[in-house]
Amino acid sequence: MKILVVEDEERVALFIQKGLREEGHAVDTAADGEDGGFLAEVNDYDLIVLDIMLPKKNGISVCRELRDRGVNTPVLMLTARDSVEDRVRGLDAGADDYLVKPFAFEELLARVRALLRRQSDSKTPTLVIGDLELNPISRSVTRNSKGIRLTTKEYALLEYMLRNPNKVLSRTLIGEHVWDMNFDPESNVIDVYVSHLRAKVDKGHETALIHTMRGQGYMISTDTPPN
Ligand code: CA
Repeated sequence: MKILVVEDEERVALFIQKGLREEGHAVDTAADGEDGGFLAEVNDYDLIVLDIMLPKKNGISVCRELRDRGVNTPVLMLTARDSVEDRVRGLDAGADDYLVKPFAFEELLARVRALLRRQSDSKTPTLVIGDLELNPISRSVTRNSKGIRLTTKEYALLEYMLRNPNKVLSRTLIGEHVWDMNFDPESNVIDVYVSHLRAKVDKGHETALIHTMRGQGYMISTDTPPN
């Protein structure tokens, strides 16, 4: 998933970024409200972690403006103190959840998972296609009930594909959702990761699930697309 972290305290921003990356998310950061609002509008994020106290524009205003412009990306607000007033203002501005600083990273992760799950609209958290299953909570992947070990990035790529089954996913789209804004769309890194994933997911199985759509991108499906 692709996440934007808007936080001016560098130490906190790096801590969140590092932890979310270790979980396989692509993470962009912004250090003030103007940059954060801009990035949130031009990019397609799955979640925004938004501090309230920010230079140039506070998190409440950023959130309200995004909602006014029709950006419905889930927002997890960070508040500096356990102030009822801040929380109410944040929720009124359109935030989906909040977290009081300082927080345990495990709690941030749990809230991030809950918001991403809510957004993907699934009651059962497990993503399934054919005999391939991915559980975003335990982060385990099985095919035909046999466990598959994936690297963090392979996992992130597979999760993104499983959230968008039977759809042609262009390299640009994959890059935008699985890599951060420093991703070079000209590189062949996506093809390399897809081939790693294929070796682990499809090799030795009768039905291939990951398909190359010539000149268009990739698709995960139980059906072999005409190509
Ligand atoms: Ca701050």
